[in-house]
Amino acid sequence: MEIKVTKSTNPQRERPKDSELGFGKYTTDHMFLMDYALGKGWHDARIVPYQHLRLDPAAMVLHYNQEVFEGLKAYALANGGIGLFRPEKNIQRMNASAQRLVMPEVDSQLFLQAMKQLVMIDREWLPKSEGTSLYIRPTMIATEPMIGIRASERYLFYIILSPVGAYYPEGFNPTRIYVSDTHSRAAKHGVGHVKTSGNYGSTLFVFQEAAVKGYTQVLWLDANELKYIEEVGTSNAFFLIDDELITPPLEGTILPGITRDSAIQLATSWQLRVSERLISIDEVIDACRSGALKEMFATGTAAVISPVGEISYKGEQFRIADGKTGKLAQRLYDELTGIQYGRRDDPFGWRIRVD
Ligand SMILES: *Cc1c(COP(=O)(O)O)cnc(C)c1O
Repeated sequence: MEIKVTKSTNPQRERPKDSELGFGKYTTDHMFLMDYALGKGWHDARIVPYQHLRLDPAAMVLHYNQEVFEGLKAYALANGGIGLFRPEKNIQRMNASAQRLVMPEVDSQLFLQAMKQLVMIDREWLPKSEGTSLYIRPTMIATEPMIGIRASERYLFYIILSPVGAYYPEGFNPTRIYVSDTHSRAAKHGVGHVKTSGNYGSTLFVFQEAAVKGYTQVLWLDANELKYIEEVGTSNAFFLIDDELITPPLEGTILPGITRDSAIQLATSWQLRVSERLISIDEVIDACRSGALKEMFATGTAAVISPVGEISYKGEQFRIADGKTGKLAQRLYDELTGIQYGRRDDPFGWRIRVD
């Protein structure tokens, strides 16, 4: 399918400075759109000036949460080009998410082409300074106006871009994390593994509680017993206990993070013992008390690797690794960002060129 391009005649003149970017505050001059109708399939793939959507107030996404999204980044490469990191994984995951919500899949080649072409058109928005990137947000929504509940027969797939700075306000410094012992994020047999908007709106309450108490992120425990570690905010959790690197298994309640998968592959290639297994908050705290807990960190596209320096659980505070960034977190961060920004070799073939 050909992508029809209509360039903006009125691009934004004032660009934010790299130091003011933050995360997700700004969008660029263009967007990609494509429509779906039952019986007709996907049609009208187009790149147009960034603009509001027109939606019927009865559009099904607004009532029943038929929505899926993705998040990945374009990077200014050391040699001057533009790169993406494992985009085929995001495409696969978005199609898997869509399937779970009875939404149509998008052809993976067209999906990749749409992202590349949009990034190229808005390439002047790609920030160049250390740690910055152009965040890509593919989204699919149910657009059919229908108040009765069933799967929509019409959808809109769109992609927007946002120039971003470093994700965490503290930068690559250990964060303080609040363990919720009252709320959970996702239940077994549900949609915790799906990137769908409902999984996020429902967590804001706890984020706010953590923020009021002075914490940057929330550590989620399992919905059954509030006992086993699940995720950290919107990133995956890792613990280095003695010489074992532990991360919770993919059993349907956590997001199968691409950064998680990359960290597992890297750590394994470095001969580390990596376990995808259940780990309880009690095991973490015991290991913290005994000194066996060497490091804790979180992984995700937005923050890459985010070391954790302190956790708060049931009113008690626990310092991890003296509140400092651990060696493994640092090594993973350096290697992953090295590959993403084209400063290092790419032995796994994770980096692809946009231009
Ligand atoms: C997106 C996301 C992650 C991280 O996935 P990446 O592919 O590494 O960016 C982890 N947890 C949740 C809840 C997420 O939404």
